[in-house]
Amino acid sequence: MPKISVKDLPINGKKIFLRVDFNVPLDENLNITDDTRIRESLPTIKYILENGGIPIIASHLGRPKGKFDPKQSLKPVAGRLGELLNREVKFAPDCIGPEVKKIVDGLKQGDVLLLENLRFHPEEEKNDANFAKELASLAEIYVNDAFGAAHRAHASVEAITHYFENPACGFLMEKELQYLEGALKNPKRPLLAIIGGAKVSTKIGVLKNLLDKVDNLVIGGGMCFTFYKAKGLNIGKSLCEDDFINETKPLLDNPKVYLPVDVVVAKDIKPGEKIGTVSIEKIPHDCAGVDIGENSIEAIKKFIQDAKTIVWNGPMGVFEIDEYAKGTEEVAKAIANATEKGAISIVGGGDTVAALEKFNLKSKISHVSTGGGASLEYLEGKELPGVKALKDK
Ligand code: AMP
Repeated sequence: MPKISVKDLPINGKKIFLRVDFNVPLDENLNITDDTRIRESLPTIKYILENGGIPIIASHLGRPKGKFDPKQSLKPVAGRLGELLNREVKFAPDCIGPEVKKIVDGLKQGDVLLLENLRFHPEEEKNDANFAKELASLAEIYVNDAFGAAHRAHASVEAITHYFENPACGFLMEKELQYLEGALKNPKRPLLAIIGGAKVSTKIGVLKNLLDKVDNLVIGGGMCFTFYKAKGLNIGKSLCEDDFINETKPLLDNPKVYLPVDVVVAKDIKPGEKIGTVSIEKIPHDCAGVDIGENSIEAIKKFIQDAKTIVWNGPMGVFEIDEYAKGTEEVAKAIANATEKGAISIVGGGDTVAALEKFNLKSKISHVSTGGGASLEYLEGKELPGVKALKDK
């Protein structure tokens, strides 16, 4: 790991500004519907507490656009975190200002403080230096565990690091980077990437960057159809981004690239509209491709069985509708089986993680990334500002 970790720092008796990603989903009654992100940072919080540090925890939640919004308050998160830690978590009504300073001054060892939503201040997303300085003045040490926010140069992620000598990563950040770096820089081979999802426009950078790193690249989901159109095939009513047809051409004849050979077609992308499975040359003009077909599933399973490292981002079809979920489910199952047999699997992206949850396979994957956008930018080969800002070992 090339970055300094919380483990490398003398934290006993020190106040730690801990940036986490507690951007959890809330229902209309402000109940947390999925606390994964809170649980994922527990190892770092517990380590700080067990080693005498005082965590001052900060996060964003939702998109409040720089204004206070009670519906996007982190207050429910303080309650949930307290339950998980089995101790009281104090909650500050803001993240900067004299009142917060006073609460922070009163903290002692064993206390945990959660600050209010960073994005209630427009300066957060502007990477504002003065705002960052105010945040930094609350603590003596900076630790970033918010992998999910690492692709954003925001004040609590980037500008703040300039006020600390050794900005360090927490255990979740470390784990995310270890898996992604391991997969892309020093993978056990064959390395297989499976990239799907709706839009080629959001993933063309990933495909291009992965091409010379992987041994095999499977492309599935709605974005396939832009490739088929580039090949001159009739794609009926399937998703297509005409502006990206040219961008797909360099990938088309690459021997590493596998495109599905058959697709499930439907009259509409709705339940109850399924027509059947056809080869990709025979998509009816009044139908849309909604899932990969059996022959493609079998071929992709073979790639998965042979791979030692598997990176997966993006579903193979419209998995939210059961009739069109088979391709995604079979791919997920095959990755889970391969993982059981020793392959390393890394899955990222909100929809792909939702698919794993739907099929109850999340626990069977080596690493499920908490950062959809951040992992995608990493796979694109971009340097994440929140990672760059941390101190090298
Ligand atoms: P993304 O956010 O780009 O990973 O896209 C995920 C979405 O792609 C999911 O909501 C899927 O329903 C959708 N998707 C996958 N395959 C298709 C397809 N063949 N046609 C339309 N949408 C699709």
